[in-house]
Amino acid sequence: MGKIELTLLGTSAGVPTQKRSHPCIYLSYTGEKKFCFLFDCGEGTQRQIFFTHLNFMKISEIFITHWHGDHYLGLPGLIETMRFENRTKPLTIYSPEPARVKKLLSSGYPSHSFKIIHKFVPVSGQKITALLETDDFRIASIPVKHTVPCVAYALIEKDRLRIDKKKLKDAGLPIQGIMYGELKRKGKVFFKGKEITYKDICSVHKGKKVVYSGDTKICDNLIKIADKADLLIQDCTYFDEDDFEDYGHASFSDVLALSKSTRIKRIILTHISRRYKSAEELQEKIKNNPCMEIAKDFMKVTV
Ligand SMILES: [Zn+2]
Repeated sequence: MGKIELTLLGTSAGVPTQKRSHPCIYLSYTGEKKFCFLFDCGEGTQRQIFFTHLNFMKISEIFITHWHGDHYLGLPGLIETMRFENRTKPLTIYSPEPARVKKLLSSGYPSHSFKIIHKFVPVSGQKITALLETDDFRIASIPVKHTVPCVAYALIEKDRLRIDKKKLKDAGLPIQGIMYGELKRKGKVFFKGKEITYKDICSVHKGKKVVYSGDTKICDNLIKIADKADLLIQDCTYFDEDDFEDYGHASFSDVLALSKSTRIKRIILTHISRRYKSAEELQEKIKNNPCMEIAKDFMKVTV
């Protein structure tokens, strides 16, 4: 199975603070091949990347959840720097309503060293849409509930079959000596007059799932895409009910209810309002919920 590594480059809501930059997640998947993606690209993203070992030239796709400034204003600067660095490889930007950003990215006197491909992400309905597929995983989206069209994204790793020594033993097969390569290729072999299929001697290793909620209230679509996730990076703008303002975001009590009604293994709370200045105070609020963590800029997560 592959290795999924995420770096949270920005974890604030709306307005950045000294400690929290605008939302952006750098995700790399290392399997047979390595892929690098950005999810959202708030203002300051390129500078945040310079404080890490990450390479922005390797990003092949950017996934924007919605067109509120805190989630995309880093795009023009990052793309301009890619041009300065003579990028030639095309860059694909997935988003709801791509027409909204085409104008922004062609303003001024941009050079044209590489092509930008815009791809539309559906913003209505209850369907999970597969946007990109490789041998190892797919990236999918689903519309969520914000004040403007917005989506959640998921990286869903494919399940894998692996040879299971116990099954070999149960089938009366030797651990060595049978043509496993041939069995994998052809799906079956005959051994001592008996047909053995590849599935007979394998167990299924469940692929991993990582979900990014975007800005949203808790809604059925979010629950659908986040169910059984190994990791959910979740909008949690408000931590106290007294602070709650209905601008299409989740509060801590909403996320708590979500964690109790679903089978999500780990939840990182992000998109944190600037009113919460003390990380220790937030830590105190989640202390009875071992599956939850408070996001921090430059936090690294391996799944
Ligand atoms: Zn936001």
